[in-house]
Amino acid sequence: MRLDVITIFPEYLEPLRHALLGKAIEKGILEVGVHNLRDWATDVHKSVDDTPYGGGPGMVMKPTVWGPALDDVAEGKSVGWQLDSAQPHVDKPRRDDLTGRSFEGYEGEAGDKPLLIVPTPAGRPFTQEMARRWSNEDHIVFACGRYEGIDQRVVEDAANRYRVEEVSIGDYVLIGGEVAVLVMAEAITRLIPGVLGNASSHEEDSFSDGLLEGPSYTKPREWRGLEVPDVLLSGNHKLVEEWRREQSLQRTRERRPDLLRQE
Ligand code: SAM
Repeated sequence: MRLDVITIFPEYLEPLRHALLGKAIEKGILEVGVHNLRDWATDVHKSVDDTPYGGGPGMVMKPTVWGPALDDVAEGKSVGWQLDSAQPHVDKPRRDDLTGRSFEGYEGEAGDKPLLIVPTPAGRPFTQEMARRWSNEDHIVFACGRYEGIDQRVVEDAANRYRVEEVSIGDYVLIGGEVAVLVMAEAITRLIPGVLGNASSHEEDSFSDGLLEGPSYTKPREWRGLEVPDVLLSGNHKLVEEWRREQSLQRTRERRPDLLRQE
């Protein structure tokens, strides 16, 4: 998969080079280009914003800068600053390599136009289901807004060369789109076959079956007077499965009853 991010703060995207995503870049599963929007600004001040029509506080990002930037990135005319992996990763055998499980290749059909994701609090809520679908894309471009956001005509015009999605990561307002892009990029790319060393780990994650995942425990068996639940030590897989399902339902009932109503 190729990810391109257009932003006025390219340094914000640095975390994409680290840990599992850095390793995915090293393995050639993921390519990341980061583009400075100001490269498309034409005035001496490299300005990317202007006052809003109709008045009001704040500034709006200019279509005359965003339009050409999105044109060039869609056509691959700008490769931007290519992120490499933050550090060489120790080539330990991964669990999927040890079990012989192969996850090369995509499951779904990517569209012919790239997918443009525009983060905005006024967008459709981002979900695990979107992350799952978009993990099959070949090319995703993210457009990071700042100030009061991007002139709406940019989104309308971009539909000529992209499939466009305006997406919110939650009911709160951030300063800019960069952090929202990090959230979505991580949620999407961890689902690309081969990115996680153990693919079954995400198959059991929260939301994959519509519920929250229950609690997890590791060694030692007793810690600060707190015991691991006996059933997990029983060796009885059926009982463990039943217990996990019950914990998952209980947690979902308590914390996210809205998820149960969607079932
Ligand atoms: N005036 C906008 C509104 O009220 O909907 C808020 C603009 S916000 C200060 C600036 C930028 O931050 C947005 O263009 C978007 O890129 C990003 N942003 C802020 N909150 C977000 C959220 N909840 N989800 C996704 N992006 C967000």
